[in-house]
Parts: sequence; structure tokens; C-alpha cells
Amino acid sequence: MRVNSASVNRPVGDGRTRSPGPSPPPSRSPLDKPIQYLRGVGPRRARLLEGLGVRTVGDLIEYFPFRFEHQTRPQAIDTLILDEPATIVGMVESVRCQGQFQSSRIKAVVSDGTGSVYVTWFNMPYLRERLERGQVLRLYGSVSSYRDQGQMINPRLEWLDAEADPATWDYERLTPVYRATAGLTSLQIARLAEAALAEALPAVQGTLPKALLDRRKLPGRRAAVEGMHRPRDEQQWQAARERLAFEELLLMQLAVALQRRWAAAHARSVALPSSVEIDRRIRRRFPFKLTAAQDRVIKQITADLARERSMNRLLQGDVGSGKTVVALYAALVAVVCRTQCAILAPTEVLAAQHFAGIERYLVGSRVNRCLLTGQTPKARRDRLLADIAGGSMHLVVGTQALLESKVRFHSLGLLVVDEQHKFGVAQRAALRASRRRGPQPQQVVIPHYLVMTATPIPRTLSMTVFGDLDVSIIDELPPGRRPVETRIVRPAEEGRAWAEARRRVAAGQQVYVVYPLVEESDALNLRAATVEVQRVDHELLPGARVGLLHGRMKKEEKQQVMAAFTAGRLDVLVSTTVIEVGVDVPNATVMIVQHAERYGLSALHQLRGRVGRGRESSICLLMTDSRGETANKRLQILCQSNDGFRIAEEDLRLRGPGELLGTRQHGWPEFRVANPVEDVDLLMQARDEAARIVREDPGLRRPEHVPLLAELRRWFRDKVAFLDVG
Ligand code: ADP
Ligand code: MG
Repeated sequence: MRVNSASVNRPVGDGRTRSPGPSPPPSRSPLDKPIQYLRGVGPRRARLLEGLGVRTVGDLIEYFPFRFEHQTRPQAIDTLILDEPATIVGMVESVRCQGQFQSSRIKAVVSDGTGSVYVTWFNMPYLRERLERGQVLRLYGSVSSYRDQGQMINPRLEWLDAEADPATWDYERLTPVYRATAGLTSLQIARLAEAALAEALPAVQGTLPKALLDRRKLPGRRAAVEGMHRPRDEQQWQAARERLAFEELLLMQLAVALQRRWAAAHARSVALPSSVEIDRRIRRRFPFKLTAAQDRVIKQITADLARERSMNRLLQGDVGSGKTVVALYAALVAVVCRTQCAILAPTEVLAAQHFAGIERYLVGSRVNRCLLTGQTPKARRDRLLADIAGGSMHLVVGTQALLESKVRFHSLGLLVVDEQHKFGVAQRAALRASRRRGPQPQQVVIPHYLVMTATPIPRTLSMTVFGDLDVSIIDELPPGRRPVETRIVRPAEEGRAWAEARRRVAAGQQVYVVYPLVEESDALNLRAATVEVQRVDHELLPGARVGLLHGRMKKEEKQQVMAAFTAGRLDVLVSTTVIEVGVDVPNATVMIVQHAERYGLSALHQLRGRVGRGRESSICLLMTDSRGETANKRLQILCQSNDGFRIAEEDLRLRGPGELLGTRQHGWPEFRVANPVEDVDLLMQARDEAARIVREDPGLRRPEHVPLLAELRRWFRDKVAFLDVG
């Protein structure tokens, strides 16, 4: 996806709520029937289902279980093992109800001829009417011991046909588990899904060309949808899942390919050619020699900038690898070529830091530059906006929110966005601010685009989410950096850790102390920065000058504190993660992270990157009282590795891609089935297939491709230019 072109109109939305767009004519398909009119659903349930993104029968049919519980063959009661989950089938010997309503308790005795167990259900008053002596139940749960007898508490239950041949009870089965919501259990959803399938499955239409299905030996859509809800076995479910995942990935890759084609035909940027002379002049601004890695990515970037084809590049580099310098280099090329450049940071603190950093390099330069954030006073702001619109302001550093406001550029040649988290949004706004008609009708001029991130994104992921984004990597730190020694600190060792911090403060070095919360919260009983700052000040680091920085402070206060710490007027900065990215104080050598187990690994790595920037050795102390094995394993990874890429991969594996990328913010429909991290092979195949389809039939006009086009329209609701394939 060429992020910086037609994506301007892409709807931001949850793909799950596929309300039909305005254009398709109202159809009579049972799939479009409002969910309220499905058997078993009334207005109340309809509202609950809507909360899950289900509005029509068709939506429910595509509301797939997120996992299956493998219910094994029933075990004889006398073979049950304590605390192990098991399935049993037995007859209800007795039922007793205690308590009222929500605090009710239902006790039954179930036996199967080899023995009996107590079964207790708490808070399920509706079972009261349904459980009777003589019924045959299948129960799934763990067995604990109660009065020398087995007991199951709140097991899953299913009524079996007491009259039927017991042999039919004795089968292995997969029980679907649906994402539930208050007032609607997975089991209830399963029943409704059954009803929806019975009513509307025959109306499900295929999307993929038959030839493709045959070639890849994939099941049809109907079979796949059914297999997602009630597979015979694991294999069938796998096949169904793969089929639907492939379809999603193919649609995604089709969109990428189509948009790329569209952009190649319709979008242009201003060519910003560099030269030996320009290169020499820019380099003179830096008080150090650029690293080989910086040189390499600068070459890639200047090659891109020199062309009219819009640059669309992701610059990855570990914290402290020198991305800002590279961005400034590119900005100066844009300015020399008589266009403007905007550099956007995610927060005001960071924007101010970027600006301060850039100022250092630009002392005495004729480049007009400014910092523009939400707190710029109105009068000054109006003046700056006029200069930006008039073209006399060359370089604007600001927050990403900046471009959502009324900024108009005279000629924005390059847009740089630091930390990608929200860039989809910022960029769309930027485009609104800068899009101009091109020399040819139907053409638009858009800025070259550079996005920087310290969070390494695996290639396959950047390809899916960002489409054909090119990637440059700075894989080398500036010389003289020392790796940061990282240690896990348990409560018993805290004393020694603080002693070390005191020693360093006494030696004139500075310390960060990071807390996960701003205010003390009962629920989470975490030490919060505002409370702990007192303790740090008086007990832990007495005599040190301690400052507090957190997200709820006023902006001026934040900046004052930051400035004081940077200037060395504070020894210790107690803060929440607002310092996560970008802050650069070489004299800070200690990073203490409280409740380290609560952070993602990448976040911790970023925090650690705040130290180790100067000549002294630095330490990062991960304080935790968590005894959890996984938590410890995760923190160990940090102690062993300084490699941001490895850490990010690990994070990705542990937490999934959504969190890392915030796919929603990119305007993509969320995948229902596919997982671009795990389905890499499928993704590659989908990419090849999409390229082939677009090559052979760029308008998706052939009958076998029409359903694909329709589905893309449904995804993007007709709002993207590349679907107006002409
Ligand atoms: P990033 O944005 O990738 O975290 P920065 O661009 O902020 O990294 O650079 C981190 C620090 O390294 C800054 O203090 C910067 O001045 C310094 N630096 C950058 N490039 C070099 C270099 N080639 N040689 C020496 N120091 C450098
Ligand atoms: Mg930086």
C-alpha cells in the first residue's frame, strides 16, 4: 500500500462491522437480514451482538470461534485424576439448589456406574429449571477433592439424549469458543451461530476464482465457513482457516497492488535532487563523522528523493542509532531544493527535543525553522502559519496533531514522522494540507514520506500493513557507545540497587526512575510516580535534586522539568513512560524501572536506550517482585540481549502484532482469521497471486474477478481512489 497517496480517503474502521456501504443495491440475501430477526435473538440480544460487531445474520456467520476446546473422550469417574481437566458422561442422581438469584448455588451428584462426583454450579440460576434427576450430562472441567470425593465446580455442560445409544455419547469433539460478552456466553453464541448457519449458509457466495481454488486445492467459501464453526476434526478446521486466511491476505495484497498501480499512474512528488556540493554542505553541519550505516541509508533516501516517484520509506534503527541526524539530512535536501519539510513527533516533549537537537546542528544556518505545537501562543502561531503558507518557513518541527489542524504548506516536499504509532492519521491530515493538483489532470502532488521507528518491524509485517513501503535499517550505533548492563532486581536486592544510584549521583551522574502509573491505584497497588517521588526524594536518594515528570502535568511544567534535567539542574527524574522515546541526556547513566514486569519488552528496551549515551558505563535496573516464570523469562531476554530486533520479535511472539502496529489506526479492516506474523507463507503466496491477478486484469473486470472487486469495495466502502480502476 502506498501509504502516502490514495490512503487519504481510506475509512478508519473496524472491519468487523461490515455494514453494507451506501452503494450496493439493497439485496434480499438472508445474510443481510438484521440479526434481531434471527430465531433466538430479540432486541436485547441484538444490542449485545451489535456490541460484538454483529449486525446481520451474515456478520454472525463470520463471527468465528477464536479457539476450540478439545473435549476428549469421556473418562470413567473412577479413573479421574485430581486437578486435571477431564470429560465425563453420567446421569444426574440428585439436584439441590441453595441461595437466591446471583448468589445461588446448584449442587448435583452425577454418576456413571464406576463412581460418582459432586458437581457445583455457582451463580447460574437459570440452571435451576433445567437440571433434573435422570438426565444424562456431558461435563468438562477439573476435578478437585471434596469430603473425600471428587467435585467439579462450574464445569461446562451439555445435555445428551438419555434415550440414545450410549455409544453416540462417546466421541471426541471440538467445542467452539466464541468471544463472549456480559450477558451473552460463548455457548449461547454457539447456538445462535448454529441457527444462523442453518438459515443462511446456502447464501454464502464464493469470492475466489474457481481456477485458483482448484490450483491451490482450497475448499470453497461455504465449506470453509462451516468448517470454522463446526469442524469434524482439527484438520478440517485448519483447512477452513487457511482458506479464509488466504482470502483475507489476498484481498489485502490486491489492495496493495492496485494502489501501487494507481499511485504510479496518478501521484507524483517533487523531485529533490542532491549533489556532491549539497552533500558536503549538509555534512559540515554535523560535529561527527556519520556511521557507515547512516551513510548507507542516506544514499537510499537521497536516491528516492531525487525522483518524482514518491518516496515511501520506513527508517528503522535502534534507539540512539542516529535516526534524527538522517532525518535532518533529508530535510535539508528538501529545503535546498526549495520545498518545505515537516518533522512530526508523537508528543510535545519529543517535538521540543527534536527541535532543540536540530537547533544544535543548525546554528548560524539560513534555514528558517520553527517549533509548532499545541502550546505555541496564538499570535505566534498565526504568524508561523502565515509563513508556512507563504513558503518562507522552511522546516517545521511539531507534534503529529499539528497536521490535523489548519496548517497549509506552500510546498511540502518531505514529510518525516517519528515513531509510527499514529502516522496513518497524521498523514492523512498532512495530505489534506498539502495535496495539490499535478501538471496532468487526475494527478496529485504529494510529499515524499519518511517514517522513523525504533521498534523494528519484521519485513513481512511492514509489507502487509504498509504495503510496498521500502525499508532502510541503521544497524550500527555511533562509536563509543557502551552496552548498558541490565539486571533484574528483586525486592531483597533493592537496597543495593539504590546504593549504587546514590553513588552515581554523588559522582555527578543522573538517574531516571520510571513508574508505570501516575497515581496510586487501589486496584493495581503499584507504586505510583507521584507518591514515590517523595520516597525517592527523602529516603532512597537523600540529598539528590529530584524532579517529577508525568503525562498529566501541564505542558509548560513538563518542559521545565525536562529542561532542568537536561541542563543538569536535577539529578533524578522520576517519571512515567513519557520519557519512553527520544529523550537524550548523555550524562544519565542509571535507568531504574519499577514493576518492570508490566511493560512490553520493546518499551523496556526503549527505556534502556535513554542511558548508555555518554562516556560513562550505564546500568538498567529492572525492579520486579513478580515470581511468575514467564515474566522472568521475558526480563531475562533483556538482560541477555541488546539487540532491539531480537527483542521486538520476542515481543511480537508474546503479544501479537495488533499491539505493536495498531492496525486499526492504519485504516485497514482488521483480519478476522489471518495473522500476518504466523501466516507468513500464506502471505507470500497471496502476494504472488495478487500480483498475477492485477497484471492480467488490472480493472478486475473479468467475471471471475468481479466478486473480489465487490469484496474490496465492501472493505473500503468505495472510498479509495484506486478502486476507480479505469
Ligand atoms: P535516535 O533518534 O536513532 O534515537 P539520535 O539521532 O537521537 O538517535 O542520536 C543519538 C545520539 O547520537 C545523539 O546525541 C546524536 O548527536 C549522536 N549521534 C548521531 N549520529 C552520530 C555519529 N555518527 N557519531 C557520533 N554521534 C552520533
Ligand atoms: Mg530519536
